[in-house]
Amino acid sequence: MNGVVILGAGHAGSQLAVSLRAEGYGGPVTLIDASDALPYHKPPLSKTFLMDPEARPQPLRAAQAYEAAGVMRLTGRVDAIDPAARTVTLAGRLLPYDDLVLATGARNRMLPDLAGAANVHCLRDLADAQRLRDALPGAQRVTVIGGGFIGLETAAALAGTGRSVTVLEAAPRVLARVAAPETSARVEATLAGLGVTLRTGWVGRGWRRESDRVTAIQGDGEEIACDLVLVGIGAEADTALARAAGIACNRGILTDAGLRTGAPHVWAIGDAAETPHWQLDGAAVRIESVQNATDQARHLARQLATGWTEPFRTVPWFWSDIGPLKLQIAGLAARADRRILRDEGARMAVFHLEGDRLVAVETLGSPADHMLARQMLEAGRTPPDGVLLEGPAAIKGWLAAA
Ligand SMILES: Cc1cc2nc3c(=O)[nH]c(=O)nc-3n(C[C@H](O)[C@H](O)[C@H](O)COP(=O)(O)OP(=O)(O)OC[C@H]3O[C@@H](n4cnc5c(N)ncnc54)[C@H](O)[C@@H]3O)c2cc1C
Repeated sequence: MNGVVILGAGHAGSQLAVSLRAEGYGGPVTLIDASDALPYHKPPLSKTFLMDPEARPQPLRAAQAYEAAGVMRLTGRVDAIDPAARTVTLAGRLLPYDDLVLATGARNRMLPDLAGAANVHCLRDLADAQRLRDALPGAQRVTVIGGGFIGLETAAALAGTGRSVTVLEAAPRVLARVAAPETSARVEATLAGLGVTLRTGWVGRGWRRESDRVTAIQGDGEEIACDLVLVGIGAEADTALARAAGIACNRGILTDAGLRTGAPHVWAIGDAAETPHWQLDGAAVRIESVQNATDQARHLARQLATGWTEPFRTVPWFWSDIGPLKLQIAGLAARADRRILRDEGARMAVFHLEGDRLVAVETLGSPADHMLARQMLEAGRTPPDGVLLEGPAAIKGWLAAA
């Protein structure tokens, strides 16, 4: 028996390795990652880790947890997979498998002209975060390219350190692809309050370089001088191994609702996977979140261990800490055609509806609304607009009574 080989020991791969055993899987479990670090939490990398030079990565679980589960951890970048022969190639060695799980995550997009400059950074893994943190003492003027989650979290964290921080965003508002205008507006106001300079609708015209450093970013009639640049323009699924093996990919490695790829005995989970979603009538979607990665891992563990076959179905949820703001999102708003805003200052909730059906909820500073949102979406229940507007107590009461 060759067992399960898992490529990628991030949130998805690490969870799968231990869940397989918890579900009673009896065969060998091999967990391979390009990094030799004990698998760690990624979210702190753009938040607390940057701010504390002494901070260490937070392990997802202790080394003993893998040992206790009989998981063999191997370090190295897998160069190729061969679904016909059921092998992976690691450092010139062929490792056979019964089932292969691709949990290879995502890679940052980079602006090709900026790649390689000594003071240009991106943020995806521990090595990126360490390089960025090491560069901060010499950087007074920081420019963040991209007003997405990672860029804004980092901008907010650095703003509190007396640096001059500028965010350049091509869209008319930050978080334009992922949040409602009301949420973007509140985030923008909070960042401005922290002293961050925001340039939305930014039209990039180029950059000034001196030897191996970028010294200014140029826009329409404007130049922003910088000591350090963080490029936060999103990520792409790491599909390289799957594509090279002829496995169908689109924005991610395509799977069915049971997380199976197009090749027999090859599965994909986490940021790398693009999977049919129940909230989108089965249209495929790639979700980058800790919840999606760990829930897909738990689901697949049960399937591989017990032969249980159910489609993957959870309410997606996500959080982002942008300075003092706790943004939480439950559900997918892609098909919403109207929204309801409850704005109480410190607490805010945006309810996205498709017709009369609640499909997603964004909250700022309101964990009670977020938890209720997950309950409502799970149960497929939508209170009247007036109840949503009243607040968490009214929603709770309606759920209990209805
Ligand atoms: C800075 C940052 C902050 C974030 N903050 C939040 C947050 O606040 N909330 C939230 O919900 N989500 C957040 N996320 C997203 C979340 O971390 C990801 O969705 C999650 O890590 C996905 O897990 P994964 O296992 O699919 O991929 P990853 O955790 O990225 O793991 C993939 C692993 O695969 C390995 N790998 C890839 N190719 C190979 C190969 N060929 N051979 C061997 N190993 C390979 C990589 O080294 C990597 O360790 C954040 C992400 C980042 C980068």
